[in-house]
Formats: sequence, structure tokens, C-alpha cells
Amino acid sequence: MMRTNQKLLYLFNEGNAYMTDLLGGKGANLAEMVRAGLPVPPGFTITTDVCCDFLANGEQQLVELMPSVREALKSVETAMRRKFGHPKKPLLVSVRSGAPISMPGMMETVLNLGLNDETVQGLASQAHPSEEGQRFAYDTYRRFVQMFGSVVLGIHKDYFEDILSHKKYLMGVQEDAQLSADALRAIVAAFKEIIQDKTGQPFPEDPMTQLKMAIEAVFQSWNLPRAVAYRDYMKIDHDLGTAVTVQAMVFGNMGDDSATGVAFTRNPATGGKELYGEYLTNAQGEDVVAGIRTPKPLSRMAQEMPALYQQFSEIVYRLEHHYMDVQDVEFTIERGKLFVLQTREAKRTIQAAVKTAVDFVHEGILTHEDALLRVDANQLPHLLLPTFELAAQRQARKQGRLLVTGLNASPGAATGELVFEPEDAVKLAATGRKVILARPETCPDDVHGMIAAQGILTARGGNTSHAAVVARGMGKPCVTGCESCRIDLSAGTLTVGEKTLKQGAVVSLDGSTGEIFEGNIPTVQPDLGSELEILLTWADETRRLGVRANADTPADARKALLMGAKGIGLCRTEHMFMAPERLPVVREMILAENEEARQAALDKLLPMQREDFKGIFRAMAGHPVTIRLLDPPLHEFLPNRDEISEALRASIKADPYGDKTKTLRRMLKKIDELREMNPMMGFRGCRLGLVYPEIYDMQVRAIFEAACSVIAERCSVLPEIMVPLVGHVQELKRLREQLETVAQEVMFSRETWLPYLFGTMIEVPRAALTADEIAQFAEFFSFGTNDLTQLTLGYSRDDAEGRFLTKYLEQGILKDNPFEVLDVTGVGHLMELSRDKARLTRPQIKLGLCGEHGGEAKSVQFCHQIGLDYVSCSPYRVPVARLAAAQAVIQEKKQADMVLSSENAILHSF
Ligand code: ADP
Ligand code: MG
Ligand code: MG
Repeated sequence: MMRTNQKLLYLFNEGNAYMTDLLGGKGANLAEMVRAGLPVPPGFTITTDVCCDFLANGEQQLVELMPSVREALKSVETAMRRKFGHPKKPLLVSVRSGAPISMPGMMETVLNLGLNDETVQGLASQAHPSEEGQRFAYDTYRRFVQMFGSVVLGIHKDYFEDILSHKKYLMGVQEDAQLSADALRAIVAAFKEIIQDKTGQPFPEDPMTQLKMAIEAVFQSWNLPRAVAYRDYMKIDHDLGTAVTVQAMVFGNMGDDSATGVAFTRNPATGGKELYGEYLTNAQGEDVVAGIRTPKPLSRMAQEMPALYQQFSEIVYRLEHHYMDVQDVEFTIERGKLFVLQTREAKRTIQAAVKTAVDFVHEGILTHEDALLRVDANQLPHLLLPTFELAAQRQARKQGRLLVTGLNASPGAATGELVFEPEDAVKLAATGRKVILARPETCPDDVHGMIAAQGILTARGGNTSHAAVVARGMGKPCVTGCESCRIDLSAGTLTVGEKTLKQGAVVSLDGSTGEIFEGNIPTVQPDLGSELEILLTWADETRRLGVRANADTPADARKALLMGAKGIGLCRTEHMFMAPERLPVVREMILAENEEARQAALDKLLPMQREDFKGIFRAMAGHPVTIRLLDPPLHEFLPNRDEISEALRASIKADPYGDKTKTLRRMLKKIDELREMNPMMGFRGCRLGLVYPEIYDMQVRAIFEAACSVIAERCSVLPEIMVPLVGHVQELKRLREQLETVAQEVMFSRETWLPYLFGTMIEVPRAALTADEIAQFAEFFSFGTNDLTQLTLGYSRDDAEGRFLTKYLEQGILKDNPFEVLDVTGVGHLMELSRDKARLTRPQIKLGLCGEHGGEAKSVQFCHQIGLDYVSCSPYRVPVARLAAAQAVIQEKKQADMVLSSENAILHSF
């Protein structure tokens, strides 16, 4: 491989923060801090290019590198006034890894390098003249041989740990720091024996050899299994390579006026404005993370070392301003002198991200736009769901109450009694009990039970299974894929290993971690937080794309408004049919043998639907409400076939010619009639409306009667009638003619004229391809991207995941799950095509999207780019859409600015 950059390494004062590709995050930021005049021990960074060359070509690369390393070391020696390998005044260094993208703790670092039996004396003499100096020097030596042995020579850590603890035991001491110089000297000797024993080579006493081996080991650590796995998971490129920083050591283990620690400039869990972190006196860096001793909170440092605390606070404040972001800072104090050893952007919770973004604007550090870009929109729903009290949850784990861990399908926490049948969930919930619905898997039949439950658990299914999708839509905690659970519906039991829980047993479910616990764990409701409100207000001022919500009930509609939705983009009428008191009437309608009987049932449903719509119109107070006419196949409203045939058998025995037997027989016949091989592509959507016109007639009548009544209450309404699953212009043309008649009739008889729109979903590829024809009869299109994705890719959402989709994602055949992130090149292309065609016929056509994608940031960004009018998503995801829509505007602007400035640059060069 040809290097574009001929320089193999950079001294700290030659680099800067923009050089992360070459110097890694750690190296680039160390250089930047040196530039800013902060106290950083001197050093240099070997580039990631060298690492890549080494990994490709091996040894030869190191041979070429070492002269430069020797040369660079000279300037470190001058700055420190010590010499590498010098018996009297030895310079020690750390050899540190650092990737362009932070991979915390995934690679290796070696400290205290340069020590041997000779230089250890020099270290002792220049530190303290006394026994204390010897102790310090051998403590450092012990650490070095141990680290070198495990990191560079690959000897298991336990060998060293065992020797160390055995010695502590013999000496009758608890802590490393209590070991005498003699004891430590003996430990070093024992460590070296282990090394000789395990590698067949003596410990390398020559510092230059040590350095070369350590650099090589850090390069190699790029390919440690845990580092590779981490990159796979985080989707980080495997070709980046790590930089290697060689830096003069400073010592936090030189006595009680020395220390080492880690600090966050803000609380990374809450975002609170406080210096947050931990430190240890008389210790080195790895002690803090290793948990050998319990570190002290930084607030203690304010009392123990007030002057240093003050100095550190000022440095940290400067760093935060300099980087305009929360920093995670590593520091060491050597005999009362402070050094900064690393700074990087702090990882933080979504709560902290929102709070700090808003605080930074108020503190004058960030603009509104920059603050909006700081928050990962997709994370926002986590803020809106109840969570378990952390301490109580930890306690539950300790007590062994964790039953099983499945997939964290929908976040949030819930506790309740276990139930297995949706009907039982509804019954118990009606009496005010809290229940958790457990099923082998769920289907649309179970939705009423899911609505009634606090949380949902399934033994099978993945992250886009029915249960997961529906639960997320409802903002309900859900754990899917609890493969080790056996759910026996007939016995009403859930079995995990030895344990069997019966209906009524209390369980707690954490949809954010996928954990299911036995017993109750108290929850806390995170408050929406004024910061999120503020951030979203800025988003609303910035975005162009409208945001609506999918809501089926007045309660959902109110929730949607609270979340900032300006209208309902999808009101599914079938959920109204699922309510337990209505299901019998709906079944009556389906079982009807003639139009008359069907009409009788529909007449009973009409007032119910009318009340639903009134409630929703009132709640939405004049915002548009898009109502989708009945969509799912009718069999979804019928009971389970096995149950019916069972009941029929029993009924025949008891009373072969009774009414009950007749009804059951009819039911079974109907179930068989309606049974389809592929219901997703079956007798549903507008196909139902065309074959049974009475159904849609009833629904449209209910909508317009409700609208007229609400208008009479002096509340404005804006209904949008939406026909599902249209694929051919004739379907829409006929339905529109038929339904307009009903609408006119109602308005005429009520003497009320109201604004309304008539449109269709675009969810069948043929509809997208013939959008110009369809637009003749549609005043709006709403892209139903769930079905459009199923039908464009030919994947069944409910089946794909468990079978091949997970594999596709693992193998990188697909980058994202197309049911979560809109497939822009395929499905997105159809959307653009249909936009262009529709505008030929109807330039002002209103375009929206309803589907899971409306609440996913990348998909929302795409909807902005192709000029849709709005997206619609579940109420809990409305904040995601609001923020993502604003981010899309800002990014577009930034891109335009970049093009402009590069054009300017070209102009100026002439
Ligand atoms: P990681 O990437 O795992 O955090 P680092 O390279 O940051 O590894 O090293 C871990 C710790 O070692 C640092 O936090 C610091 O405490 C200590 N350390 C590294 N270099 C030095 C040095 N030159 N002087 C003193 N301590 C150091
Ligand atoms: Mg570090
Ligand atoms: Mg659909």
C-alpha cells in the first residue's frame, strides 16, 4: 500500500484536533491540548497509516519506523531532562493505543516502559531519596513487568494476579500500596520467572527492545477479537487502524500528594452541570478502572486538594469551551503537579444529551442549530417511558429474580400479573388490575389484549415482529424472542428452566434491556423535562416538514397533541372494531348471509363509530384527521379456528340441532371461507369496500355525521377520508363516487357544509407506478410504507425477521432493516416517482407518509428531501420526527454552504 503521508509520526506540538484520521482521537486531542497550552506530558504519535502498513506487511514496517521513534524520543528527553534507558535519570514512557473513532478499552496500553534492574535504581533515587523512593520505584517496576507480560507477551493476567495476592496474604496486608520495597522486589523477580517460563525467553531488559515490542503489540491489538467484535457492532471500518502514542510518564503513585482520576465535565447520566468523576490517591490510571480500590468521588478532591481541584476545574472548563462539548478527561497528579492525559467527547445518556445541548445554548457556547444536531433523534422515545428504579432493579438481579433475557423490542418498564389470553387481559384490566400479556407470539387478533396490558412478552419473534411493531406503536414495553421460555397456553403456564409461573404471577419486564424479572420492581416516570420542550420548540421553528401522529382513539389523539403533533395522519378504524363489546357485532356483520342481515349489524355499529369520531374530532380541535377505511382481512375479526371446532364438537354432543350448534357451524364455515394462503395480499383494503359497499358507506356516514355534530358544537373539523390498498385507478374512482354520495347526503340532511379531502394510501407498487391516473381522484396521497416495503421487497414483515432478515443484516447484505429504516433506493425511489407523476395531474396534491418510518430519523430526513408535506408516526415518536425534520433542514443548509464556499474557492483561484 502506498502511503499518501510520508511522515511516520508527529510530535504533540505538530498535530491538532482535526488529525484524528491519522493520529487517532487520543493523539489528535493530546496535540490539541498541547497547542492550547495545557499541562500535558510530552510525547509523539505514530500514525494509523503505519499501523495499517504493519498489519499488511509485518516486521519490515517496524524496522523502518524505529529510527524515527529514536529521533522523536530525543525531543521528549530534552523536554523532560531525562534519558530513555539512562541508569541515573531514566525517562519512562507509556505506549498508548488510539483509534480514529473511540473504542474505549478495546485495545491495549502499556505504562512505565523503560524500566529494568538498572533504571529502577535511577527512578528510585530521583523520586525520593529514602525507603519510600525504593518502594515507589519497585511498585512502578512491578506494574510494568506485569503489564508487559500480559499485554505484549500475551501471558494470562491471572498468573501475575495470583503471585501478587499470595504475597499480600503472606505479608498480611490488604492493599498493594502497603507492600514494602522488598516484597515488591520479590514480586518482580517472580513475575520475570513466569515470563521466562511461559515464553522461553528472559524478560527483555533493553528499553529500546521493550519499546519496539510494545509498539508492535499495540498495533496488533487492533485485531484483538473484542476490538473486531466491537467494530462489527458499531459498524466501524476495519481498515482504519490504530495510532500509537508514546508519551513521557508522570506518576500518580508517588505518595499521598499524587493521584490519578477520570472526570466528566457534566454529569453523563443527567446532564447536570457538575464536575463528575472519581480519583484515587497514590495510584496509577489502570487502578481506577480495574476496581482494585474503590475510588473517591471528585467532590472529595475539593476538600483534600483544594488548589489542585480549582486548577483542574478551570482546565476542564476551558476544554469544554474549546471543544464546545461535554468532555471525558483523564488526569494524573504527580507530587502536587497536575497533568492532563486525555480528553474526548463524553458518552452520555439521551437525557444528558438533551439537557447539555440546551444548556450550551443558554451558556452561549452553541447556536440553536448546532444544539439541534447534537441529539440523536431516534433516542428520544427512551425519555418518555417509565423506567425501573435502578437500585431496585440491581437488587432484583442480585436476588436471582432475573428469569430470562429476550430482545429489547420496545423500551420502557412494566410490572403486572401474568396473563396468557388477550380476553383475560381485557377482563382483568377492566377491574383495574395491571397485567403482562405473554404469548408464544402475537397476531392482530391479540391487539385488544395488548392494549389492555402494561407490557408484552413473546417467546418467539424478533425486533420487527408483530408484537414488537405494535408495542412500539403503542409506546408499550415489549420483550420478544424469549427463546428459553415455554408458554403453554392450554395449561396457562410459563416455564423457564426449573421454574413454572402460573397465570396471576407478578412479573416485571424491562423493554430497554430485554429482561424479565419475577416479582414487582417499582418504576419511575421520567418527566418530559423542560429541556426537551425547549429543544423541540427550536426544532419546530426550523423544520419545514409537518408532523402528525397515528392515533385511533381520543386518548391517543390527546397524547399526540401533547407530543406536538399537528394532526392525525392515520386513524385506523379497525381498532375500533376490535373493542370487546363490538367484536360480537362485527362478527354478526361478517357472518351475515344476506345484505339485509349485514345492514342490520352495520346499523348497530354506526352509532359506535360515530361516537369514536366525535371524540377524536373534538380532541383534535380543527387539526386534520386522516381516517383510513376498514383495511384488514375480515378473518382477523373471527375467533380462532381450533377453538371453534372444539366448541362445535362439544355443542353437537350436547344439543345437535340447537341454535348454538348452528351458529358455531356457520362460524366455522365462514372461517374456512375466509381463510387465505397469503392474507397480506388477500381480500382486504378497498377490495372489501368494493365487494361489500355497505361497510364503507357506514363508515363514511359515521365520519360525516360526527363531523356535523362537532361543528354544531362550534368546534372546527377537517376530516380526510383515506382508502387503503388501492392499486388501480378504477378502484378509487368507483369508491369515491359511491362515498361522495354518502357524504353529500349527510351534509345535505344536516344542512352543514364542511371542508374535507378524499385521498388514498399509496402502498401497492402499482399505485405508485400509476400515480398520475390515481391522482385524478385523490386530493392527497399517504405513503403506507409498511405495506409498500413488504410488497416492493417481497418480504413478509411478520415472517422475514425470524428467517432470513437477521442473517441478511449480520452478513451486511442489507445495511438496515427495511421495516425500520426506509429503503431509500428502492421504496424511496417509488415514492419519488409517484410524487412526480401525481404532480403532473394534480400539482398541489398533498403528500404524506404514515408507517413506522415516519418516526425514524433517517427516513424522516428523506421525506424532507423529497418534499413531502408531512410524516405521521405513533405519538411517542412524534418528538423524533420533529427533531429529525429540523436536522434535515440544518444539514441541507450546511451542505449548500459547503458547495458555495468551494465554488467561491474555485472562483478565487482564477
Ligand atoms: P485507554 O484507551 O484504555 O483509556 P489509555 O492510553 O488512556 O488507555 O491509558 C489508560 C490510563 O493509563 C490513562 O487513563 C492514564 O491514567 C494512564 N496513563 C497513560 N499514559 C500515561 C502517562 N504518560 N503518564 C501517566 N499515566 C498514564
Ligand atoms: Mg484513556
Ligand atoms: Mg397497509
